[in-house]
Amino acid sequence: LPIHEAVLGGADRFGDRPALVDGVTGESVSYARLGAAVRRVAAGLAEAGVRRGDVLALFSPNTIGYPMAFYGATRAGATVTTVSSLATAGELAGQLADSGARWLVTVSPFLATARQAAEKLAAEGTPLAEIIVLDGAEGHRSLADLLAASGPEPEPGLDPGTDIAVLPYSSGTTGLPKGVMLTHRSIATNLAQTDALYRPAVGERVLAVLPFFHIYGLAALLNQPLRCGATVVVLPRFDLEQFCRTIEEQRVQALIVAPPIALALAKHPIVDRFDLSSLEYLLCAAAPLDHELAEACARRLGLPRILQGYGMTELSPVTHVVSPHESDPSPGSVGRMVPSTELRVVALDSTGTGTGSNIGTGTDLGPGERGELLIRGPQVMKGYFGRPSDTAATIDADGWLHTGDVGYVDERGYLFIVDRVKELIKYKGYQVAPAELEALLLGHPGIADAAVIGVADADGTERPKAFVVRAPGSTLTEEEVTAFVAGQVAPYKKVRAVEFLDAVPKSAAGKILRRELRAREAGR
Ligand code: ATP
Ligand code: MG
Repeated sequence: LPIHEAVLGGADRFGDRPALVDGVTGESVSYARLGAAVRRVAAGLAEAGVRRGDVLALFSPNTIGYPMAFYGATRAGATVTTVSSLATAGELAGQLADSGARWLVTVSPFLATARQAAEKLAAEGTPLAEIIVLDGAEGHRSLADLLAASGPEPEPGLDPGTDIAVLPYSSGTTGLPKGVMLTHRSIATNLAQTDALYRPAVGERVLAVLPFFHIYGLAALLNQPLRCGATVVVLPRFDLEQFCRTIEEQRVQALIVAPPIALALAKHPIVDRFDLSSLEYLLCAAAPLDHELAEACARRLGLPRILQGYGMTELSPVTHVVSPHESDPSPGSVGRMVPSTELRVVALDSTGTGTGSNIGTGTDLGPGERGELLIRGPQVMKGYFGRPSDTAATIDADGWLHTGDVGYVDERGYLFIVDRVKELIKYKGYQVAPAELEALLLGHPGIADAAVIGVADADGTERPKAFVVRAPGSTLTEEEVTAFVAGQVAPYKKVRAVEFLDAVPKSAAGKILRRELRAREAGR
């Protein structure tokens, strides 16, 4: 099925139930209204000239209009490339050019950035067809204009197996963001796969603060809850106080977050000022979450445990998740595998760089053994857009996607993520996972946040260096940090240098931007 049908095909049966609630204004949109809006937006976009296969860029923070624009565009046959709401004009122009976008849908606060990007494209001889401003702006078509379209609903004749529904860009954590081609079928299939382990209940209130532009937010905060009849409470950005207040006011039952939010919920004093008793579960994914931090967060929220999931843009995105209904999941794991998916754990090569490319793979490993994770299944992307050599280096001839992540599976089939192959610090023939050291550091009461990278020495070895954010009032010294870690790890894992920062750089989706720390280090 095309994704708008997979998600909203059954919307009529939820009728007057709220599909979306604006967490700031309280405005609510019923399923009936959302379904009708999507059909009207599709007609409006068709009237504007959008055709099957056209690439439409959606550059907006989370709003209740976002899903109307998104599903309306796929309904009109477009491929939607979702753009980070933090993108600069240069980054936006880069993604528009790389994806071949002809249409840009945005909101008025982003219009100046959008125009600057559009001018850049025009100067390069590839002008956009139009900029649509959802909340309206002089001289631009708005969401209201699209909704008022009188024309017929378009019949783009999509082929779900080949038409690209979404072209999200990977987070760019390890390199340049790459456009990931996801067909209607791979996304719809992944929703059905995920259903087997996790599906929100009809009427369940889910808080959506993770950005919809990232595949995790798109899948877990729009596609999945909307197809299940849940209610998505939408917030445009993360502000801890507003987040907690919204949970209290809207009686939110489900939180779907990334580690920085779990960290704030576990550590920040203001959390105790709110009544969060409506919460039933918290699901965390997108980056490593330390087990003790997870426990602290669960205790603080009065939940039995924190649930985790694992996925990547290239996998539409889910392969593993812990179900809220499991009574005894392996603690600290990212869950069991969704159906119709195959997993291999293969040995990293001797340099610790992983198999890296499609040329051969290491030997297969058994339960408990750490290696690179390889995934095969219908949710694997079609490829990176316009980057055949990157695609060939990621998906091998037998269809296995090389995740670049290190992990292991326990005897009961639960997956544990150790870290990314590329992030492993090579210290004198040993491999140190930054995520493990970061987890230890976060266990110190004087540490509010931390990130670890390997700093290369003249002798070629990499030494773990910690960037630490002190907790308010803490006077922690470099020596205390090093001694704290040294007291808990094998000597080769010791932190060899410490630098204090005001904040750890993180992406909007919650990932530590180690490349920024490396650049900072290189510039010293
Ligand atoms: P890029 O590929 O551009 O460098 P990225 O890999 O961060 O960026 P995403 O597709 O957004 O882009 O993220 C997928 C990655 O996130 C996974 O490969 C994995 O490293 C990490 N990840 C996802 N879920 C978890 C989790 N539960 N625990 C640890 N890491 C996770
Ligand atoms: Mg990646």
